[in-house]
Amino acid sequence: MNAKLNELTARETAGLVARREISALEVAEACLSRIAAVEPLVGSFLRVDGEGARAMAADLDRRLAAGEEPGPLCGVPVALKDLLCVKGWEVTCGSKILKGFFSPYDATVVRKLRAAGAVFLGQTNMDEFAMGSSTENSGYQITRNPWDLDRVPGGSSGGSAAAVAAAEAPVALGSDTGGSIRQPAAFCGVAGMKPTYGRVSRYGLVAYASSLDQIGPFARDVGDVALLLEAISGHDPLDSTSAPIPVPAYRDSLGREIAGMKLGVPRQCFAAGLEEGVERAFRESLEIFRGLGAEIIEIDLPRIPHSVACYYIISTAEASSNLARFDGVQYGYRSPAGENLVEMYEATRRDGFGEEVKRRILLGTYVLSSGYYDAYYARALQARRLIKDDFDKAFERCECVLMPTSPTTAFEIGSRIADPLRMYLSDLFTIAVNLAGLPAISITGGFDASGLPVGIQVIAPPFEEEKIIRTASAFEAGAGFQDRKPVLSVPPAAAPGPS
Ligand code: GLN
Repeated sequence: MNAKLNELTARETAGLVARREISALEVAEACLSRIAAVEPLVGSFLRVDGEGARAMAADLDRRLAAGEEPGPLCGVPVALKDLLCVKGWEVTCGSKILKGFFSPYDATVVRKLRAAGAVFLGQTNMDEFAMGSSTENSGYQITRNPWDLDRVPGGSSGGSAAAVAAAEAPVALGSDTGGSIRQPAAFCGVAGMKPTYGRVSRYGLVAYASSLDQIGPFARDVGDVALLLEAISGHDPLDSTSAPIPVPAYRDSLGREIAGMKLGVPRQCFAAGLEEGVERAFRESLEIFRGLGAEIIEIDLPRIPHSVACYYIISTAEASSNLARFDGVQYGYRSPAGENLVEMYEATRRDGFGEEVKRRILLGTYVLSSGYYDAYYARALQARRLIKDDFDKAFERCECVLMPTSPTTAFEIGSRIADPLRMYLSDLFTIAVNLAGLPAISITGGFDASGLPVGIQVIAPPFEEEKIIRTASAFEAGAGFQDRKPVLSVPPAAAPGPS
């Protein structure tokens, strides 16, 4: 068996399996052996479902042999962030409070992936309830960046990004509330896309901040992002915020030229705090876009600097309400302590939630409390509207906006965990996109002096994901950074000892 089947793109795998040149089972086995080899180093997964993956793959092979029509993700192994409900799986959202919660149903995206022929490998690590930028807030384990094991993979979908970068899975799903797909994609040198708010159903996604959350794909190139996005998008009667707008064939936007396209670069993105290596790679990537015939113009997004403050009011307000349901009664962990119901609630929440989650529940409760509601929450909603207006104005002058994904490359494990404000600034360039509900991708735009990937973002108006796919795939074809892969020195399998 070819040991490199785990390195194929999802498009290649789907084609080969559909033509029955390789079996879905062989591909699943290749990913599972890669997982077994690199997990001790990287720690992308919270749970690997080897038996389930083999059963799904074997079933698919049987159905193909019987002449069944192959789906677009035929035999493609997928890793799922641990906040997507999969029927029968334990789903913990990276939190101790959900330990022992087994989902009675499939999220809509999970149902769609099954129908498309995907094979599920397991669940990836994340910051607890998707709150964080480094995956260090997981209630279970840390995940290491495959490019440098002393560094974080980003967060909150750090497990999904690391799994794809380490070739454990060709593609993965994550969620993005303020940057949680794009920032880890940037840190791990893979492509990650946050679709327009309403493009992908949130039914079966454990909610953090419902007006900002979106599910989206991770892949090693833009072609696979397009493939996965097409499979998971579309209106869903089970999510009243999902949009009844037809889903285009995103793959048709691959390989198209961008000559003459106007791309806007906000002057605010060269703000203080932008690491030198990031600025250099970003400026060089602008030259690559120019070389492809695009016109780069300067634009103004004057309210971007307020987006982090605005986000931490709105997202914590929504989180404090969404997380009220975890009280030991219906889901997961229940503390044995306490003499009565209220004491049981308190003990469950005290022991079940981690520090960051508690901090945000307190902050959210505070900004919603009477007397402070107008001063904080209502004003943050006004600021959100103004940030959206900034983008609307910018899109009158350009077709897409370009920005770095994060002001820095992957930072060292432990270097920011004690300083939440500094951690929050990791998302300076991603958060405004969620506040405005826009689609955006992060792809590798270059490398810093220590060889760490630098992510760049392509942002488009609502429901114009096609423009992003077109622009990002043209960049990839011109630059080729996606071909550079991290090298993991996997310890050789233990030699058989004397019998
Ligand atoms: N890092 C941001 C936060 O901690 C964004 C998280 C996310 O997108 N889920 O809230």
